[in-house]
Amino acid sequence: MRTIVCAEHMGFCFGVQRALSMVQKLDKPVTVLGDLIHNPQEIERLRKQGVAFVKHTAQLMGGTVVLSAHGSSAQRKRKVAERAERIVDATCPHVEKIHDIVRDLAPDTTLIIFGDPNHPEVKAVQNSASHALVITEVADIPQVAGPVALVAQTTQDSTRYKVFSQAVRQLNPTVQVFDTICHATADRQRAARAVAQDVDMMLVIGGKNSANTQRLAQIAGEIVETKHIETAAELLPEWFAGKDRIGVTAGASTPSWIIEEVIAAVRKF
Ligand code: SF4
Repeated sequence: MRTIVCAEHMGFCFGVQRALSMVQKLDKPVTVLGDLIHNPQEIERLRKQGVAFVKHTAQLMGGTVVLSAHGSSAQRKRKVAERAERIVDATCPHVEKIHDIVRDLAPDTTLIIFGDPNHPEVKAVQNSASHALVITEVADIPQVAGPVALVAQTTQDSTRYKVFSQAVRQLNPTVQVFDTICHATADRQRAARAVAQDVDMMLVIGGKNSANTQRLAQIAGEIVETKHIETAAELLPEWFAGKDRIGVTAGASTPSWIIEEVIAAVRKF
C-alpha cells in the first residue's frame, strides 16, 4: 500500500490567501495588474468569474484595479491612479515591509537585492530605490563606496541568504542587513526538506512560473527524485513503479483544490 506524506506547511500562504479574498469580495468586473498569484489554473478560474488580468498600466481602461501581491513601485502606483477609478492594493504585508525599508534608506545608499532580477517583486523594489543592484551570486558582490543595505526577495532560500549576507559584510563591513524572507517561505522549505528525507519521491505542486514553487522543487530535488507538476494531468504511472512513499508539497500560490486532485490521482496509481 502506497503512503502519501504531506508537508506540514504547503499551499496558499497568508499573502496569497489575503489577495484572493480581496478580489473575491469585489464587485466584478475588476482588472488585476500583473499576476495576482503565480498559478495559471487559479488565474483561469478567476477569469471565468469576471476578473481580467493585464500586464501593463497602458492597458488599463478605468474601473477597479487590483495591484498584485508582489508589490508595485511608487511610480507604477501613480500611473495606475491616472487610469483607474478605484485602486485596491493587494500587496502582501511582507513585501510592503521591503518597500518601507527602502523608503527609509538615506538617498545615497546602495541597495543590494538578493533575488531574481526578472521577478515582479524584485523589479518593483528595484524601481522604488534610488540606486539598487540585483545580485544572486557571491562572486558578483561589489565593494561599494558609501552606505550599503541588503534585502532579500521574500521567497529566497534563507540558508543561501545567510551565506550571501556574510559575504556582503566581508566586503562592506557597515552594510545594514534586513531579514526580509517571509516565514511562509521558510516554513514550506523546512517542511519540504523534512518530507524529502523520508520518501522515495517528491511531488512539488505549483505554477512552473512560481518562484517559491521552483525553490521547493530545487530543495527537494537535492535530497530525492522530485517532480514539479502543475496539475494531476501531468502525472505518469511509471514514475510510481517501485515507490512506496510519496511526498507532497505545494507552493504558496497553489490552491487546495489542485493539491487534492493530485493526491486523489496518486492514490489510484
Ligand atoms: S510567500 Fe510570503 S511574501 Fe509572498 S505572498 Fe506569501 S506570505 Fe507574502
